[in-house]
Amino acid sequence: MTEYPNLLAPLDLGFTTLKNRVLMGSMHTGLEETRDWNRVAEFYASRARGEVGLMVTGGIGPNLEGSVLPGAAMMTTEDDVRNHSIVTDRVHQAGGKIAMQILHAGRYSYGPKCVAPSAVKSPISPFPPSELDEDGIEKQISDIVNAAALAQKAGYDGVEIMGSKGYLLNQFLVTHTNKRTDRWGGSYENRMRLPIEVVRRTREAVGPNFIIIFRLSMIDLVPNGATHDEVVQLAVEVEKAGASIINTGIGWHEARIPTIATSVPRAAFAWVTKKLMGKVGIPLITSNRINSPEVGEEVLATGCADMVSLARPMLADADFVKKAINGTGNQIAPCIACNQACLDHTFGGKLTSCLVNPLACHETELLIEPTPIAKNVAIVGAGPAGLSTALTAAQRGHNVTLFDKADEVGGQLNMAKQVPGKEEFHGLVDWYRTMISEAGITVKLSTKVRADDLTGFDEVVIATGVTPRDPEIPGQDRDNVLTYIDVLRGNAPVGKHVAVIGAGGIGFDVSEFLLEEGHSPTTDLPLWMKEWGVTDPEEHRSGLAPEGPQPAPPARKVTLLQRKAKAHGKGLGKTTGWIHRATLKMKKVEMIGGVNYERIDDEGLHISFGQARENPSVVPADTIVLCSGQIPERSLADTLTEQGVSCHVIGGADVAAELDAKRAINQGTRLAASF
Ligand code: NAP
Ligand code: SF4
Repeated sequence: MTEYPNLLAPLDLGFTTLKNRVLMGSMHTGLEETRDWNRVAEFYASRARGEVGLMVTGGIGPNLEGSVLPGAAMMTTEDDVRNHSIVTDRVHQAGGKIAMQILHAGRYSYGPKCVAPSAVKSPISPFPPSELDEDGIEKQISDIVNAAALAQKAGYDGVEIMGSKGYLLNQFLVTHTNKRTDRWGGSYENRMRLPIEVVRRTREAVGPNFIIIFRLSMIDLVPNGATHDEVVQLAVEVEKAGASIINTGIGWHEARIPTIATSVPRAAFAWVTKKLMGKVGIPLITSNRINSPEVGEEVLATGCADMVSLARPMLADADFVKKAINGTGNQIAPCIACNQACLDHTFGGKLTSCLVNPLACHETELLIEPTPIAKNVAIVGAGPAGLSTALTAAQRGHNVTLFDKADEVGGQLNMAKQVPGKEEFHGLVDWYRTMISEAGITVKLSTKVRADDLTGFDEVVIATGVTPRDPEIPGQDRDNVLTYIDVLRGNAPVGKHVAVIGAGGIGFDVSEFLLEEGHSPTTDLPLWMKEWGVTDPEEHRSGLAPEGPQPAPPARKVTLLQRKAKAHGKGLGKTTGWIHRATLKMKKVEMIGGVNYERIDDEGLHISFGQARENPSVVPADTIVLCSGQIPERSLADTLTEQGVSCHVIGGADVAAELDAKRAINQGTRLAASF
């Protein structure tokens, strides 16, 4: 008997059956744009081998004006059909099913040719769109239908028509972006016309035995978005027009409410899909922050949807479903929703991967193969760099001994997990603990390793991490001056007025920790919704609370300082930095830049500004926290080098600047793949 009876139940669509209720949601990986179709095929085939019920590709443009950006993949020619056939063949050989997402970006298309229902520029694009005329609308419909017909010819099992996230079809639906007065605008019947017409004509073109998923925005989270009644009306019409499944879209890209970041509670929006259950006859898929089989099972068991969509978790572990089937769900590499190697890469123009799993989208390039000779490998440091090295080396067949001076594995991950909104790090440390035990790695904790302890090993890896940088501020030896380690480990009491020195990732984390005082909105959905101003779309159009965000009062008065004169938090994640900045702003954190740190005394922290050290002032603070960056901890590596012992130095011990778990895990995995 499986632990996940709902999740693993087949789903009969009449003309075809999905083997379980897990959809791999669409993600733009950048793979299609490499034009290396073998690589694209292997990415999807490895997930098909992992037994996922149905996959949806990244968004494929139906024409130039609708593509997400110039050069993005399209489905318009016989060449495209041939290339995509390589993918569908490989997926089918692996026993999987795959649908192609047709994405017309409308005014979100990042180029001067973009089109929209009305000439209303998006706040997240520099390009004003041209308003479509009647012929232009007709062309968009026939291009989308043509892309669907070509997808069918390329062997896809279906298409997903992207109607959410604020893309073209969504833009027609709401008055936020549709200001037309012709038959495509004005009344809701008119605004619905384009999506309905697209689904109807697509069904006509592909016949009855082809999956059509319609991705429907169930809560827009932008001003003048849809009401719940409009969502129901659209769903009913989409079903009548021939859709086989409705998938949930949550929020537009321009919404100022986080919808998938790690600080969003798990399955935070499943209740939105549930509101539509029973209103249509076709299956409904729910989505967003579902990252374990347990969460998926719970969502289905409580009647929120017929199927769950997981996107990023399928990057973290291609075998997600297979492990759930085999009863080894605790071995699923967890997606921590950090966006660091997926969405931040996509929006930075880089190929997607995964912080937890560097193999993602690199299946044909990073090969973890059995070693011909089993070596004795010593790894010093059980943080992310050391853990990933140890795991990969052991999986290849090496004999691995992992040392750490701490009494637990995880290194800095153990500090990150204390931060409100970063609870997912608990799961990552737990996963590493499970996996190193499964892999038979010898773990020696509470062990301070000396150079002599490392004789007799074939490979020595130094992953000793970092130590805090000394900012050398007069008075920093006072009892009320703490390091971020003291604060996050709870080693010392913290006062009610705090000055945080350094506004990097850790300065922001420590500030959030101090503002919440133990109660994290991430584990309290009603509180989180109140903090961000999210409400029931049945009560308020678009799901926006009329009173706006209502954050709980901050637990402390925090002042966050940096020497740079530019805006705070510029170096944070591309897709998540705004959330951290907004959180601190909501909690009334004072951000001061361009400072010199003069001294710390009974009055607090003395600062001045500019090279001339002008405008001296005092930040009154009963506690001062040092978050002034880190330097490599490489004393052991230096001793080994002096003794002529060769070793690999990785992670923060190698380069501390801009160290994060993504770089550490990638470096460790690649090193272990190479010896
Ligand atoms: P960091 O991002 O390099 O920030 C260090 C901060 O200390 C900067 O604000 C810097 O600003 C200041 N600083 C540097 N030298 C100083 C000195 N001598 N005296 C006083 N202030 C000084 O380092 P971090 O905050 O320690 O974070 C380390 C890494 O962890 C980051 O690179 C990041 O990738 C990762 N991390 C990321 C996140 C995230 O949200 N994605 C969260 C936590 C950690 P000024 O030079 O302008 O003063
Ligand atoms: Fe999940 Fe982070 Fe990996 Fe993206 S990079 S898939 S968010 S763990």
